Parts: sequence; structure tokens; C-alpha cells
Amino acid sequence: MTMLSIDAERLLGRLRELGQIGRDGDGRLVRLAGSDADKAGRDVFIAWVRSAGLEVAIDRIGNIFGIWKDDANADAAPVLLGSHIDTVINAGIYDGCYGVLSGLEAIETLKASRYVPTRPIAVAAFTNEEGVRYAPDMMGSLVYASGLPVEEALATIGTDGTVLGAELERIGYAGSEEPGFLKPHAYVELHIEQGPVLEREGVPIGAVENLQGISWQRVTIEGEANHAGTTPMSMRRDAGHAAARVITFLRDRARNANTPTVATVGCMSFEPNAINVIPSRATFTVDLRDPDEGRLQAEEAALAAYLRELAAAEEVTVSVERLARFEPVTFDNGIVELVEDAARKRGLASKRMTSGAGHDAQMIARIAPSAMIFVPSIGGISHNPREHTPDADLVAGANILLDVVTRLADQ
Ligand SMILES: [Zn+2]
Repeated sequence: MTMLSIDAERLLGRLRELGQIGRDGDGRLVRLAGSDADKAGRDVFIAWVRSAGLEVAIDRIGNIFGIWKDDANADAAPVLLGSHIDTVINAGIYDGCYGVLSGLEAIETLKASRYVPTRPIAVAAFTNEEGVRYAPDMMGSLVYASGLPVEEALATIGTDGTVLGAELERIGYAGSEEPGFLKPHAYVELHIEQGPVLEREGVPIGAVENLQGISWQRVTIEGEANHAGTTPMSMRRDAGHAAARVITFLRDRARNANTPTVATVGCMSFEPNAINVIPSRATFTVDLRDPDEGRLQAEEAALAAYLRELAAAEEVTVSVERLARFEPVTFDNGIVELVEDAARKRGLASKRMTSGAGHDAQMIARIAPSAMIFVPSIGGISHNPREHTPDADLVAGANILLDVVTRLADQ
């Protein structure tokens, strides 16, 4: 049998077309969950799903499913493909959309080839993966995997004061299916890497074997405000300086550890925030990530110990609030091997790797064997209009997805 391949022009054309939907007055791509732009993107996607002859289903959190099944296989658990089509503010055109449209493309290609799979195959566009307007991110897939009650998710109040459930009603995407209604046999998500590794190493296909755990904390340090001119250096309780020491501690520790741990302080504010006043308070966030849960816990413990030492040494008080915590996810080795095997058969180099970013796959992995396929991101840039993946890599990744879903659908 000759090797089947996806329709490259159709896939690339759709990616570009979807990438023009939701441009704001400045030409920026913005399709936040539940917005008018999100509706416009969803409408176009559903039109393509229908034109491919798939059944459309929408669940209560607004996740969209395009399902290909027939009488012979309707009772079997489907192979699920997918990702998300919501975006960040001033997004690139590939993040999420590439996985959703490639999933549809793989199904359309198989369907046109008159191939008859043992299982149904479905493509999902999960609601609010980005979490820009409504927290948490990866919400649609989290609800789908029973990690968050749907009522709670629908009641989420957005950064603009809107309620997600009301917005989904308003744009016509408050569906009727119960989240989790399709219990997948397996889930595969194709995505741009959003990091520099594949491009740097000249490898076109990433076989993603795990996804790092994430720990988000907010630290507040209280010292004492005082005159910047009259207070001797030895008599200061400087919350700002204490905060700076934490940044340095985290960076030095992660850099010297020779482990995959990454640590970031991305957000900080001082009070009273004046040029001639010693800061009385510093508030900042800590983002710790590692693919190993034991190591991630050790990093959290090391930070906690350092903060205790710091409080004593700097005569400040320190309090910590946990904002988010997701354990690392290990993907299904059988599917990872299918990805490697598919790449080998197409003469493409592949590399086992860790996902540095969060994805819907980490949620769906709770309910079904899951894995991801990555393609290179030029310069490792994402969440940015400069996000780019060469067409040849996009097509290669979609063909690997096609091969993998074909194998899974015959299991
Ligand atoms: Zn994404």
C-alpha cells in the first residue's frame, strides 16, 4: 500500500485563513475564549468539520468535537485528536490551531481514501486553553477530564468582569453534551514546540514523552518603609532587597543544578514604590517547572527554607500563597513509540523530548493514553506574531499525526 499523505495546500490554506479571523484594529490576532472573535473562529472551524462530513458535538463547556464514525465502529472508543483555537493577545497563527486543523486534515484524508478504521476518530477544539480572559488555562480539557466541575468553570469571572458561561451562551457555544461524553481510546496532540530545541538541533519531529510539572507561588515580603537618605544601611528592613535576593537565589540554584529545573520571577511590585523610600513590601511570583515531581518538590522545599533564612537575616516577614500546581505528566510510551516509528518510516529524524509548556494533552492524559508531537518553532518564539514554522515542517508533522492515528484507530 502506498503511503497516504495529507493535503498540504488545504491544511496550510486553512491555517492562514483561521489566522486572519479575530484581527483587532491594530491588526493583532486576538481570539480570547468566549469573545466575538472566538465565535467567528469556531464558526469557520465547524463549517470545515461539516464540509468534511463529520458529526458536530459541543459540550457544556463549549468544547467542539468533529466525529467520524459509522455503523460498524460506532460502539468503539474513538481515537481523539485536537488542541485549541483560542489565542493569547497579539498571537501567532500556529499555537493550538495547527493541532486542531491537522486533526481535521488527518480525518479528512483517511475518509477520502476509503479506509475503514476499527474505531471512530474525532477532532476536538478545547475551550479556553490559553486562560488569558478566564483562569485557569487549559480549562476546557481540565473540565473534560473531570479535573474541575463544569458549573464552577462556567461561573468563572473574567478579567473584564464577564462570566464565561454567559459568554458561551451569548456566542452560541454553550453545548448540551456532558463534558467527558466521548471516552477516548487514545489522545494525540500535534503542536508547535514553542521552544528552540528542534530548530537548533535540526530535527523536524519531536516525540513528546512527558510534560513538566508547574508550581506557581506568590511571595509577599514585609519590611519597613523609611527615609532613603537618613536610614543607615545597617538599620534597614528592606523588602525590596530581600526580594532581589530571592531572584538571585532561584537563578543561581537552577543554573548550577545541571537538571532541567527552570525558575522564573516574572512579576514584582514594591510598596510604596517611591525613589526615596525603602520598600516596606515586595510582592512577586515564582514559576518553578521540572519534569520530575520529586525534584519539583525539592525545589519548592529549598525555596521555602531559603525564605525562612532570609526572613531572619533581613528582619522581614515572608508569606507565601500557592497560585497553581500541576504535577508532571508522563505520556503513553506506546504512542510515543508510534510517533518515532512513523517518523522513521517517512525518513524523518525525531527526538524524544519534554514539553516545557502546558497543553490540553496533560489534562486528557488523566482519562486516556496520550502523547504529543512537536514541530520546530523558528527562534523558539511563540505567543508572538513572529511565531513561525516552515510549511515543510507543518506538513511533515501533520503526516506523522496521520500515520499515528491510523495505527491507533486499528487497535
Ligand atoms: Zn497551545
